[in-house]
Amino acid sequence: MNQFVKITLNSGREGSLLRHHPWIFSGAIKSVEGNPVDGQTVEIFTIDRQWMARGSYSSKSQIRVRILSFNLDEHVDQDLIKNRIAGAIALRKDIADLAGTNAYRLIFAESDGLPGVIVDRYDDFLVCQFLSAGAEYWKDEIVSQLKAQWPCSGIFERSDSDSRLKEGYQDSVMTLTGDAPPPLIPIKEGPLHFLVDVYNGHKTGFYLDQRQNRALLMKYAENKEVLNAFSYTGGFGIAASVGKSFHVTNVDTSQETLDLARQNFQLNEADMDNIEFIQEDVFNLLRTFRDSRRQFDLIVLDPPKFVASASQLSGGTRGYKDINLLAFKLLRPGGILITFSCSGYVKPDLFQKIVADAAIDAGREAYVLEYLSQGPDHPVALNFPEGLYLKGMVCRVN
Ligand code: SAH
Repeated sequence: MNQFVKITLNSGREGSLLRHHPWIFSGAIKSVEGNPVDGQTVEIFTIDRQWMARGSYSSKSQIRVRILSFNLDEHVDQDLIKNRIAGAIALRKDIADLAGTNAYRLIFAESDGLPGVIVDRYDDFLVCQFLSAGAEYWKDEIVSQLKAQWPCSGIFERSDSDSRLKEGYQDSVMTLTGDAPPPLIPIKEGPLHFLVDVYNGHKTGFYLDQRQNRALLMKYAENKEVLNAFSYTGGFGIAASVGKSFHVTNVDTSQETLDLARQNFQLNEADMDNIEFIQEDVFNLLRTFRDSRRQFDLIVLDPPKFVASASQLSGGTRGYKDINLLAFKLLRPGGILITFSCSGYVKPDLFQKIVADAAIDAGREAYVLEYLSQGPDHPVALNFPEGLYLKGMVCRVN
């Protein structure tokens, strides 16, 4: 099975590899010599027989190879896995901002040199996703290295993402080693406390990528009447409440999510008389609020990914514009809009243009006070710009 597999690129298709971009699309490949199984290591050559890189093969995905090394002397073996995990852990230990929290991303896939591998820490548990053929192939080794390098109560798998289907794998959700996590894991982020459902929650249970932005929102919240749209389990609303907001309205279509949000507010000793939960579609509710002239001092818009493929770009753009336009209309003079897009296809300049158009159509003049992104535990490798997906802005209206 471990025979040498040689992949030759089409003429002129080595440009992205010279920039150390870790993906090879099927269209760049001229020939495959050997019969690689999914996840097996393959050697990449130019048409002029020059060695370029080695990586994991995937027969089903359009991303046919994910590169693991651009160094001829570095073999894809247990040592490579061990070193990549050690590197990812060392990076997190150096991030001062993580000192006050026990929940963050420990391994962020391509950005940490382990394509398709996500590992999140929730207190004394690790929750993993293996989303590519290479990740699946090396799973046992990754788990045993995590166990050795990050002693914890248990390691749980939440591989139930669409990207795994594209690689031809079924969902896999189970405890991989150690104890099963409790139904809700308590975590803390500085002064904020949350309960995380790693079994049913979104992603691995929580939006760890918004940690810094929750901390930032606390600074804007004092005495404000806040609308937390797309609230999920309360994240931004709880940051507002702990930041001494006057009132928080949380909106989400999912009742289970709002039930957990309520528990999270209680955990943070919020004054529940001033916390509201509305199960509604945000698009509808914003229109209802506009018609009834309800107003807010601070609005957070953190919708799900509206654009998951290039073909969804125009529809998604319209979605972002609609909610931002309506939010601008609901702000009192001097009000703050904190608006996000987690769609990687919507680049920062496009997102700013959408929000700018929304302000004009709402008849508001606004400024960007701050540009926001994902936290440093979700680093963006310079050779992998696709790692940047979350962008946001703090806007103030006149
Ligand atoms: N802001 C949250 C994460 C939001 S995830 C945090 O920081 O934790 C997006 C949320 O939007 C999900 O909880 C989903 O249930 C909800 N949602 C999706 N479409 C919606 C819609 N049209 N109206 C209201 N909520 C929606």
